[in-house]
Amino acid sequence: MKIQNLLTLASLAATTLAATNEPCIGSGGRAGVCVSTSTCSASGGTSISGACPGDAADIKCCTKASCSNGSSGNCRWQSDCAGTSVSNQCPGPAQMKCCSSTATGFGGYAAPKQPTVGTKCLAVSVAGAKKITDQFPGRVREIFCARDCACTSGSDHCCGKAVDLMCSDGGGVPTMSGREIAEWVMKNRSALNLKYVIWGQRIWNPSIDSELAWTSWRGMEDRGDITQNHWDHVHVSFK
Ligand SMILES: [Zn+2]
Repeated sequence: MKIQNLLTLASLAATTLAATNEPCIGSGGRAGVCVSTSTCSASGGTSISGACPGDAADIKCCTKASCSNGSSGNCRWQSDCAGTSVSNQCPGPAQMKCCSSTATGFGGYAAPKQPTVGTKCLAVSVAGAKKITDQFPGRVREIFCARDCACTSGSDHCCGKAVDLMCSDGGGVPTMSGREIAEWVMKNRSALNLKYVIWGQRIWNPSIDSELAWTSWRGMEDRGDITQNHWDHVHVSFK
């Protein structure tokens, strides 16, 4: 790689912003939220460094292992709660709630409508979406493939070569559940004809990256919200 490219990459990494109020994996592998250390401690949470992408010094991954939900609970994203959730117990935005169950409540969705093959959703994308959703029944709520835009735009979506697998309770609703799906996609890259996969503000490309846990995938810039930062869906691009 040329020195100039290395310098450009280094400056990009340095200017990447933290995604405040978005998910992260915190102490003990628990679901967390990127907030200021003062916000975290005020809510009784625990902060760890280095778990929020490109975090500003004061923005850290905050978890709260114990909260009060009638009797006892734990703080997690509401979309991932297998029990009941109550508000005002946890750090971060309203969707981080005190859950009555320690079990993950990932998914539970009816089988999504599979896309059909066409010029706006190629066979490789249809086949890939089917393989992934077959592997994770109940985990993908909706599949987006065809998009009304010109292939010349450079987006794989516009060329029918990408799918968005929505895996939380709604668009813009955060979940931790995409990690498992995204790592499976990485491992099955050959069968899927994978070009790249994105989850949780991280990207993995088989032509660049070796097989790694999602936490070690390359970080992406903060694009501004839960959907743009891929905290509600797994993006899969195919060759
Ligand atoms: Zn996408």
